[in-house]
Amino acid sequence: MCVEKTPWEQVIDFHGHTCPQISLGYRVAQIAMRELGIRPTPGTELMVTAQTHSCALDAFQVLNHATYGRGSLIVNEKKLHRYLFEYSGTPVRVEISVQPDIVEHLVIPEHLSTREKQNATLEAIQFILGSEETAFCTIQKG
Ligand SMILES: [Zn+2]
Repeated sequence: MCVEKTPWEQVIDFHGHTCPQISLGYRVAQIAMRELGIRPTPGTELMVTAQTHSCALDAFQVLNHATYGRGSLIVNEKKLHRYLFEYSGTPVRVEISVQPDIVEHLVIPEHLSTREKQNATLEAIQFILGSEETAFCTIQKG
């Protein structure tokens, strides 16, 4: 039987490993799609501007079809987990800022053993995906 991959599996497959940043990107990407709603015009392109480079970007390439190669995924480095989604040539835009408490969970301490790192990674992902949306981010539209 052929079972279709879930969006999470598609993202992890593309990204190549499981890490806290990709789970952050996964959640941001899904909130963005919900907030943006349907594509306003057929000719418009979804543009994503990230204010920091991280593993999170790969989720936008898979889920939002905003790709680095096509120039629809841009990094404006400010060391902030703030992401702007906008449809080109339209006023439709959504900005998602990840809460500081979530950002703190992205870093897995280097001194841990491999096993401890695996556990810390899983815990961080559960925290990032499981927190209330208001505790996860703020959303600004328009
Ligand atoms: Zn990663």
